Amino acid sequence: MTEGTSRPPLVDPFGRVIRKVRISVTERCNFRCAYCMPTAPKWFDREAILRFEEIERVVRILASMGVSKVKLTGGEPLMRRDLEVLVSMLSRVPGVANISMTTNGFFLAERARALKEAGLDAVTVSLPSVDRDRFRAITGVDALDEVIKGIDAAIGAGFSPVKINATIVRGLNEDQVVPLAEFARSRGVFIRFIEFMPFDGKGSWRPDRVVSWREMYEVLRSKFDLVPLQRESGSTSMNFAFRGNPGGVGFIASITAPFCDDCERIRLTADGRIVPCMFSPKEFDLRSALRRGATDSELESIIRAAVGAKDRGVKYMLQSGNLPNVVRPMYVLGG
Ligand code: SAM
Ligand code: SF4
Repeated sequence: MTEGTSRPPLVDPFGRVIRKVRISVTERCNFRCAYCMPTAPKWFDREAILRFEEIERVVRILASMGVSKVKLTGGEPLMRRDLEVLVSMLSRVPGVANISMTTNGFFLAERARALKEAGLDAVTVSLPSVDRDRFRAITGVDALDEVIKGIDAAIGAGFSPVKINATIVRGLNEDQVVPLAEFARSRGVFIRFIEFMPFDGKGSWRPDRVVSWREMYEVLRSKFDLVPLQRESGSTSMNFAFRGNPGGVGFIASITAPFCDDCERIRLTADGRIVPCMFSPKEFDLRSALRRGATDSELESIIRAAVGAKDRGVKYMLQSGNLPNVVRPMYVLGG
């Protein structure tokens, strides 16, 4: 047991210790990003979505088993009214050391300070283009200005760190890699380029639409002086600093160079299912147990069963020559 925890740690069959949870707080979103949402998404019934008290209870149990980092995501997490209340509840859970959020940034300018005061530590804003028309074409919303204001408000509110995420899809926005890196450099932040994963709601993923991290890196290093950084264990990205300037670029190479061997994450969907690996269809229903009055040790058993069933990862699926399956769309999974 580690300090601050009261139960044995969560260890999967491959010896990986689970320290992080990504929580989708809603699957709803005000954007319709081409690589994520179907044209006409079907939302869960409102009662299906976990209440803040239920999320807090799950996090309390996870934290007692050594999970110390919580990421809030969605759908768009800021579509959830009063997210600040949840942040504040989670920030008081013993053992939770870090709370971050991934957002499309649309509502961030007006909420950054309140979120910071509630206890949110770090923010990642998704930005697939710095060109207004292209941004609208990708997301379905003419909101580039709002998102940039959101990024600036997050920097101004003192989140540490503020990062940018950009999912890059061939034929959609691969020409944006350099302008996006320039934008990140102008703000002194890191931008992480994400390889297109087969979790899009339209079913448009194909291997040839994946722009590999190598391809992006080659383009970037011809324009920027990049210094490789040591990769932190459990990190999803390979990072490079801009020489002589704060910030840098990173690559989330989930398809061409996935880091499965030190994965320390599990996920909780908005409707209360634990997903041990995003590339696997396995999921474990916690909501029914929560709502039929299960004890903490019953919930702990379900969580341990989920971790006990965690697959080795997409890296091994690809090594054996199989393409990753289209399991569930990103807006449902919580990216
Ligand atoms: N709405 C928030 C946002 O856009 O940041 C949070 C949820 S979104 C699903 C989380 C991240 O997943 C975003 O950075 C988005 O670009 C990324 N994403 C969505 N669909 C993807 C896909 N098919 N492949 C790779 N990344 C994807
Ligand atoms: Fe919404 Fe984020 Fe998916 Fe875009 S990537 S549609 S902002 S959930």
